[in-house]
Amino acid sequence: MKKARLRLASLLIAAALAAAAVSACNEKKIAPPTVDGELALKYAQENYDLGPKIFRTEGAKKSAEWIAEQAKNIPGFEKTGGNVRIPPSAHGEYNVEITFPGKKPDFVIIGAHHDTKRLFSVPDFAGANDGASGVGALLAMARVCIEHMQTSSLPCGIRFVFFDGEEALYQYTETDGLVGSRAYVAGLRQSGDMARCRAMILLDMIGDKDLNIELAGNSTPALADVVMAEAAAAGYAGKFSRGKVNMLDDHYPFLQANLPAVDLIDFDYGPKNSYWHTGADTMDKISAESIRTAADVALRTVWRLAETGFADL
Ligand SMILES: [Zn+2]
Repeated sequence: MKKARLRLASLLIAAALAAAAVSACNEKKIAPPTVDGELALKYAQENYDLGPKIFRTEGAKKSAEWIAEQAKNIPGFEKTGGNVRIPPSAHGEYNVEITFPGKKPDFVIIGAHHDTKRLFSVPDFAGANDGASGVGALLAMARVCIEHMQTSSLPCGIRFVFFDGEEALYQYTETDGLVGSRAYVAGLRQSGDMARCRAMILLDMIGDKDLNIELAGNSTPALADVVMAEAAAAGYAGKFSRGKVNMLDDHYPFLQANLPAVDLIDFDYGPKNSYWHTGADTMDKISAESIRTAADVALRTVWRLAETGFADL
């Protein structure tokens, strides 16, 4: 009798544990995929090897076509219901947009620029960190999203957007610099997609081996909070900080359109930023690990935003 009772009790406990396991399983969030840093670096190297990608030159057009080709070539892409396109050019820019559907109709944009600075002193400047690192990050993120979508959905839509014309040909004015991102925001307005765009996460110069990402001071505070929390949760707290300096970067047109936007940028590239916009911005200065760090935090941020119903914003 005692034994039987014990057996019954243990059966009940086992049943309760099983039920708890099932409910925990149901409630368990699917973790965001993590990026292959070496693959990201390989994409960056290949993009770098295309040479100068100056706005309104054949180089930028070739870079856009190369990016679109890479995305289409990722195995399993066609099964995702995703799309790759180079939107019609408004001001000579060649942006590239990779769109993936998710559980929610709303989407988050993850952006980077693919054009490179025109440097008269360095005619073959190809921008390893300032250009290619972001391109590598986004393509590697697109790849893990495609792999993820073979078995489960993304928590919301994701658009990877590669902007052209970020760099000013002369100096930043209303019409010089940020040309691609301005045109892209105008396109969002025209298409009516603006209402479904919940946030914009920009990656710029995130490949530095000595990575110190400072969120631009004019990033949307609530979104910057989520990025910082996810960086800490991923174990990268030491590599991220909140900057005080406002940045005129591709997140800016999104801020102007009242969309939450954040700029992940390491504007401390070499001693006294001396590698920035110089011939020293070469592939030996950037690393797979740095690109992966920024990319993983960006994806974690999207997951967190979507899973909480964008309540943080
Ligand atoms: Zn630049």
